[in-house]
Amino acid sequence: MAKRAGPKTRRMSPGRRAVSRLERLKEISLGVAASRTRECAVSSQQETAQTASPASLDLFAQPNLVPAYLPARMINEFVYCPRLFYYEQVEGVFVESADTIRGSQGHKRVDQGSGALPSADGADASEDKLHARSVELASDRLGVVCKMDLVELRTDLFSNVQVSPVEYKVGAPRENDDGIDLWDTDKIQLTLQCLILRDNGYECKEGILYYRSTKQRVRLEITPEIEKWAIEIVAKARECSKGQRPAPLVASPKCVRCSLAPVCLPDETNFLRQLGPESSEDAGSDLADKAGAGASYNGRRSLTPRDERRALYLNSPGLFVGRKGEVLEIREKKTVLQEVRIRDINQLGLFGNIQVSTQVVQELCEQEVPIIYFSGGGWFYGMTHGLGLTNVFTRIAQFDVARDERTRRLFARSFVAGKIRNQRTMLMRNHEEPPTPLINRLRQAVNDALMAKSLDELLGIEGSAAANYFGAFAGMLKPESNGLSTFDFRVRNRRPPRDPVNALLSLGYSLLAKDCAIAAAAVGFDPYVGFYHQPRYGRPALALDIMEEFRPLIADSVVVTLVNNRMLDESHFVRAGNAVNLTARGRKIFFEAYEARMNSVVTHPVFDYKVCYRRAIELQFRLLARVLTGEIAIYRPFVTR
Ligand code: SF4
Repeated sequence: MAKRAGPKTRRMSPGRRAVSRLERLKEISLGVAASRTRECAVSSQQETAQTASPASLDLFAQPNLVPAYLPARMINEFVYCPRLFYYEQVEGVFVESADTIRGSQGHKRVDQGSGALPSADGADASEDKLHARSVELASDRLGVVCKMDLVELRTDLFSNVQVSPVEYKVGAPRENDDGIDLWDTDKIQLTLQCLILRDNGYECKEGILYYRSTKQRVRLEITPEIEKWAIEIVAKARECSKGQRPAPLVASPKCVRCSLAPVCLPDETNFLRQLGPESSEDAGSDLADKAGAGASYNGRRSLTPRDERRALYLNSPGLFVGRKGEVLEIREKKTVLQEVRIRDINQLGLFGNIQVSTQVVQELCEQEVPIIYFSGGGWFYGMTHGLGLTNVFTRIAQFDVARDERTRRLFARSFVAGKIRNQRTMLMRNHEEPPTPLINRLRQAVNDALMAKSLDELLGIEGSAAANYFGAFAGMLKPESNGLSTFDFRVRNRRPPRDPVNALLSLGYSLLAKDCAIAAAAVGFDPYVGFYHQPRYGRPALALDIMEEFRPLIADSVVVTLVNNRMLDESHFVRAGNAVNLTARGRKIFFEAYEARMNSVVTHPVFDYKVCYRRAIELQFRLLARVLTGEIAIYRPFVTR
């Protein structure tokens, strides 16, 4: 019997890497088609979920979309980690890593084969044909399909074609006291290939694993015991794909090499699963707010502190963005103003009338780099992105909550309480003399928000807190020494902003809404269906929900920094009637300050490790998705101390 694969078995199956994202999507859609007959049952269970609390939402109990044939490489993933299998096979979530890319490159040659294999009876076999590459076969008995890197052939006059599949691996085999052993992940994949060949009439006694690092060929004889083991694993994987997403592994070294760790958040999720209110009734209350207070996170950080790529903003009307290979060319008429490598950007923001070629749109969709559109005045219109939204379950859960007034309120309480807390912290940190009665009022507003009985009551609490906060906002701005009053601020106004500070605040909120919409879409949400913000045409309501807690920390903070550091002056604004807007030069300075803030690292209030604000926003959306699918009990807003 095979030994359980150890931590080093995470070789990121090269076969899997060789499959393009579109092929992966095709596999998922095949699964959907195979499961159409189950749709009625899905609907009836969703109705039940509508009345459930976030902690008890059991959306994943619905019959899942299990295709008739599971890919053998997915069974390989199941052996490595059932949760990884579930993410990839059921939810369609894939993340490339250095390992996966290396695996794909190592597989290029074997993937170039024609896939043609002589018939099992040897009728069309030729003596000079000793192997076939890229052979795709399926087994009805197992319900498994596989693509074999290489199949070695032997024929003679009196027997059927004898075959041995050869599976290429980038790493090395496991070694123990008895010599070379195979990782369970490798063993299952090869065993399934052998069984599939047998089920198609070929004589197959063994398979071969070829390890590129050590240049070793390791044979695996297919015994009845191994066959039984493989069949049991396939049955377990199939069962797993019908249920809920499995829990993360606990403190497993496998997670360190897993490309899905930034999505899975194994240690973070396990930590939050241990915390939480006694009952779902307490979720979103001050009781929930205090749950787990004092518990400290000792897990690993599953994601890098910041994205090394940058946002590219284009701000001058009349520009044209074209593509030359892997580079974006920004042109004004025929003059190339700038060249930017696509791999260096994580988004392309366009303000006003800037044209983009179809080739650019296609390439950025393929690379999952969103294109974001703003009006010339900075109003966030919308965005274009690729087909990354494979995770339908997150959106199903989102829509169910959006239809349930009580559950929506629980989330809305957290969003608003988080925002008011951060407003209070902002004043305490930056106000020249924080007024104690106001600070106390905001503290009370946090408690009131957490106990609000309706969304209308919550709106009132938020509005009153905002009036208090902006009433004291001027106290955070240092007066200008030259006596000019460019940055006098009295009251928050918008559409259009009527003074420079309001123009800055509006642009900051617009950029923040954009980043929240990008993060929402990346996690698998529909940014337009919110819990606190009501649906309205063109309004990214869920993005605005999560944005609440980040408004003071990011947008307001950028405005205070720009004003107090004298980075802008009257010349950076244009006035037309009552309206005030930034000039192109002023906006460029704003973008730089905003991006600096988004990329600045902060200690995460729950996990106690450093992340930049852009990552923190993404993390909040991922945690929200966990709550919606019942993995963790309550949503905790991002609040700084
Ligand atoms: S990070 Fe760990 S628990 Fe999560 S999918 Fe990967 S191996 Fe499994």
